[in-house]
Amino acid sequence: MIAQYALEEAVGHLGAAIMQSLPSDDQIIMDHVKAAHAILTVVSRAQRAMTPAVTFRCPICAETAVADRDLDGSPICPKC
Ligand SMILES: [Zn+2]
Repeated sequence: MIAQYALEEAVGHLGAAIMQSLPSDDQIIMDHVKAAHAILTVVSRAQRAMTPAVTFRCPICAETAVADRDLDGSPICPKC
């Protein structure tokens, strides 16, 4: 499974490219960028929906919380 963080970063970069595009940009390339953004958005949302929430106790602040995920998918504290 692709790390959720990496998917969301890719979606963000492609979205930024779309938002910053100009009518003078090559429309063939922009069509590919838009298609990639649409595909990765669907994959990212589907993967997030299938990923169970992880509750863990943070070794740093000792809070128990629903964890965010690190690049490799491991849980990280949302507060630290
Ligand atoms: Zn913490």
